[in-house]
Amino acid sequence: MLEVKHVTKRYKNDTEEQIILKDLNLTIGEHEFLCLLGPSGCGKSTLLRLMAGLEEVSSGSILLNGEEVREPQKGCTFVFQDYALFPWKTVLENVEFGMRMNRMYTPEKRREKALEYLQLVHLEQAKDAYIHQISGGMKQRTAIARSLALEPKILFMDEPFGALDNFTRMELQELLLSIYRERKISVVFVTHDIEEAIYLGNRVVIMDAHPGTINTILSIEESAKQDRTSEEFHRYQEKIFEVFHLIHRNQIEYYI
Ligand code: ADP
Repeated sequence: MLEVKHVTKRYKNDTEEQIILKDLNLTIGEHEFLCLLGPSGCGKSTLLRLMAGLEEVSSGSILLNGEEVREPQKGCTFVFQDYALFPWKTVLENVEFGMRMNRMYTPEKRREKALEYLQLVHLEQAKDAYIHQISGGMKQRTAIARSLALEPKILFMDEPFGALDNFTRMELQELLLSIYRERKISVVFVTHDIEEAIYLGNRVVIMDAHPGTINTILSIEESAKQDRTSEEFHRYQEKIFEVFHLIHRNQIEYYI
């Protein structure tokens, strides 16, 4: 279980100190898919990096199974929007490299695992391609395979599909959901896309900006995810629009 307790994060520049996140409280259970949704600059990525131990809180605490998180934790991996792959390595070598960095397995076992995870993301045919030879969607599949090969309990994802076209994005959303269901992992997923948050999340944490706070946490019924055009799905969209109307009347155009 991951707990965010009274977390505040400040950044200092030369002249002033800015409060980015203020007194946030949140709990993420096992096998949860939590989406952090909010306008640009509200602190979603900062919160994600804090939870992943990539940055330290200014006050409050983040606990993973009762232990304070101050650095990246075993069993947690991170997927970035810009893939963070090595262009001079092949798809297969990129997936193997993650395990090598974490001193996991023998070289033979790493190859076996890499192939297994490339199969899971339907990329086994492209295993020998170099990163510059493949599409954005394939790059993100490679990055996801590399993360999953570390067999995480929690996958942190920072707008991983933000740079992809709509069709590829929807394909990868489906793939991620099926992996989440099959592997029983937890996912914490940053997005500013309302449809994506409803489609993926069990819960959607709606954040307010300046300073970043949690406005509402919305639970999404499984039945709503069957069809993005259903009335049930639209009702969730309306609820979220309503929240943003209430808190950001002048920013709502951005979300429609
Ligand atoms: P979001 O992911 O919601 O777009 P971010 O977490 O990236 O928001 O950023 C929230 C705010 O924190 C922004 O105003 C951003 O400029 C500021 N910020 C983020 N990282 C740093 C940093 N390392 N130093 C100073 N300010 C930062």
